[in-house]
Amino acid sequence: MSGLVVIGASYAGIQAALAARDSGYAERITVIADEHLLPYQRPPLSKDFLLDKVTRDGLVLRDEAFFKLKQIDLMLETRVHAIDRHTRRVSINGNNATIGFNKLFIGTGSHPRRLTVPGADLDGVCYLRSIVDAVDLKDRLKNAAEIVVIGGGFIGLEVAASASKLGKKVTLIESASRLLERAVSPLVSQFLFDLHTRNGVDIRLNESIASIGGANGKASFVSTAGDARLVADLVLVGIGGVSSDRLARDAQLSCTNGIVVDDHGMTSDPDIYAAGDCANHYNAYARDWVRLESVQNAQDQAKAAGLAIAGKTGPYDSVPRFWSDQYDAKLQTVGISRNFDRQAIRGSLESGQFSVFYYKQGKLRAVDSINRAGDQMAARRLIGTGVSPSPEQAADPSFDFKSLLTPIKTKEA
Ligand SMILES: Cc1cc2nc3c(=O)[nH]c(=O)nc-3n(C[C@H](O)[C@H](O)[C@H](O)COP(=O)(O)OP(=O)(O)OC[C@H]3O[C@@H](n4cnc5c(N)ncnc54)[C@H](O)[C@@H]3O)c2cc1C
Repeated sequence: MSGLVVIGASYAGIQAALAARDSGYAERITVIADEHLLPYQRPPLSKDFLLDKVTRDGLVLRDEAFFKLKQIDLMLETRVHAIDRHTRRVSINGNNATIGFNKLFIGTGSHPRRLTVPGADLDGVCYLRSIVDAVDLKDRLKNAAEIVVIGGGFIGLEVAASASKLGKKVTLIESASRLLERAVSPLVSQFLFDLHTRNGVDIRLNESIASIGGANGKASFVSTAGDARLVADLVLVGIGGVSSDRLARDAQLSCTNGIVVDDHGMTSDPDIYAAGDCANHYNAYARDWVRLESVQNAQDQAKAAGLAIAGKTGPYDSVPRFWSDQYDAKLQTVGISRNFDRQAIRGSLESGQFSVFYYKQGKLRAVDSINRAGDQMAARRLIGTGVSPSPEQAADPSFDFKSLLTPIKTKEA
């Protein structure tokens, strides 16, 4: 029996356990993780890890000493198979074992959407989600000269950048008319298209996959709907993520594109919480229901859940943030830019250092930056406090946003 059972030991699961403990939750906390490694950082898997800039050990998010210090029991290599809401127990692998709970937190994340064309199950068609996937991909990259990346989202673009840096010939297929269509504006899409093209990546937009072919069960070429045949020693599929909400659905919790939660991470069962990639919430900045896949969302939303589990309040209201590293470009986004009706550019695209400020009905909604971290810091406070510089002020690099913001009080002040 555990007071709080947490399913999933990644950004959301750890943060929920930690927030509950640090807010005075005194009962036993058990975190159940189906992976074999200590919890690790996922973002470097498509970047520094592939480029040998960080080792497996360097990815560890929290070590054993941390869990001991916080009196949190961590069960690695243990998969939860079902949640029984009536008996308040979860069943785990082996011997019909179960663990009871008073409160349950679900942080099961998301998994890659699978490609369904003929040949999609051939050896050499890879996905990237876990450390196991990343070790396999890195290994295969060593012996691959020509790579086909399917999908121009963040994962596809980051792997394309890493593979191209490793000297591989990379072709990227995207079915939409531009890269990162759902995440950034056309202007940023075009910047990234040019950046990848300059680095030798052959990007084919408005193109889809007809089939993957090969011999002896191994992929060796990709055929597109436009009749191109591309040599592929390796195929990386990055066509989006799907909420890992099966446990919640089977337990009859309300789920629509993920587990539906309120701004405390509470599901349709008041003793069960969820956060991170697996959860769908109403986001005030998006003015809509969204399932966000970012480290910031997983951590901040889970913190709100952990507080609620401990009987404290602190609703989730952080401004959404995301980052992506491709070559020497650091893309950072704050807010949600969809449906903007005006934009202002600060800096210059030619210099590779600029920010795009997005407005809707005169209000600043989001800012995307390439290599302008300072703009992101300011934008986070501007959007978070509902203060909008005019588009003219935003476009004027000499305009200091601090003049619009109340100074942050330091202890000394
Ligand atoms: C390659 C890659 C690069 C990324 N880059 C960035 C980036 O640059 N910036 C950014 O903000 N975000 C990035 N992300 C997204 C970010 O990593 C995710 O948003 C974040 O990991 C979500 O955290 P989470 O805790 O919700 O879920 P996850 O990290 O997915 O963790 C869920 C955990 O639960 C486990 N689990 C699932 N089901 C069960 C079960 N039944 N029993 C036990 N355990 C279970 C899973 O195995 C997993 O370990 C990247 C993701 C990937 C894959």
